[in-house]
Amino acid sequence: MIISDFDMTLTRFAHNGKRCPTSHNIVDTSRLISEDCKKMLKDLLDTYYPIEIDPSRSVAEKLPLMVEWWTKAHGCLVEQKIRKDQLEMAVRESDAMLRDGFKPFFDKLYEHSIPLVIFSAGIGDVLEEIIRQAGVFHPNVKVVSNYMDFDDNGVLRAFKGELIHTYNKREGALKNSGLFNQQTESRNIILLGDSMGDLSMADGVENTENILKIGFLNDKVEERREQYLNSYDIVLVKDESMDVVNGILQHII
Ligand code: C5P
Ligand code: MG
Repeated sequence: MIISDFDMTLTRFAHNGKRCPTSHNIVDTSRLISEDCKKMLKDLLDTYYPIEIDPSRSVAEKLPLMVEWWTKAHGCLVEQKIRKDQLEMAVRESDAMLRDGFKPFFDKLYEHSIPLVIFSAGIGDVLEEIIRQAGVFHPNVKVVSNYMDFDDNGVLRAFKGELIHTYNKREGALKNSGLFNQQTESRNIILLGDSMGDLSMADGVENTENILKIGFLNDKVEERREQYLNSYDIVLVKDESMDVVNGILQHII
């Protein structure tokens, strides 16, 4: 089984020197959002993203701040009366980009009936649309994420269920353990992430035999290298491709 984060793990962090968007950023910068709200969302990003990735702050310190970021941002989005049928266009017009080599990655897992669980603190509706437009939303792909809740007219009124942010993936993993435990035999897992919070994504899996944790270190490389090397089995520094993961899959299946 593969358990993977989405934003900045399956998608690129940068392309030609320019940052690529997260699933939130796609909506935040789209035509669906007023100029005032765009500014507010950008200010939130500028305030909280440096905290999210700061290796000198503890997770305990970051937790309430992450909840604050997601709650404020989702509140802003709900005020915008976004329609479900506009998301396809927002994704199509965005600079969303899956990592180089994404197609053989998704296709090979499907071909070999290997479950791919995407576990994201992003927006589920948006990330599904990205992989649908890329032609790789195969039936072996399951998504755990923050989903939008639309009213009868298809207008965004809230976000569904319990909030998933960068540092509460462990709780999400335990809550969704049914999804991770659909096979009963012991399991070998490859975990893919770009954040320290992604390391707990497999905590809900029973009968784990082996787990290989691969981390993409995209940003603030020098400050975070040691922390990543101590936590992930393989650390890929500023690698915008799925080449290493595809190479491993090639070797084992
Ligand atoms: O898929 P993943 O779990 O990586 O998605 C979460 C990412 O989205 C976070 O790492 C965070 O930097 C980003 N984010 C954002 N805008 C928000 C909230 C989170 O870009 N409002
Ligand atoms: Mg991520």
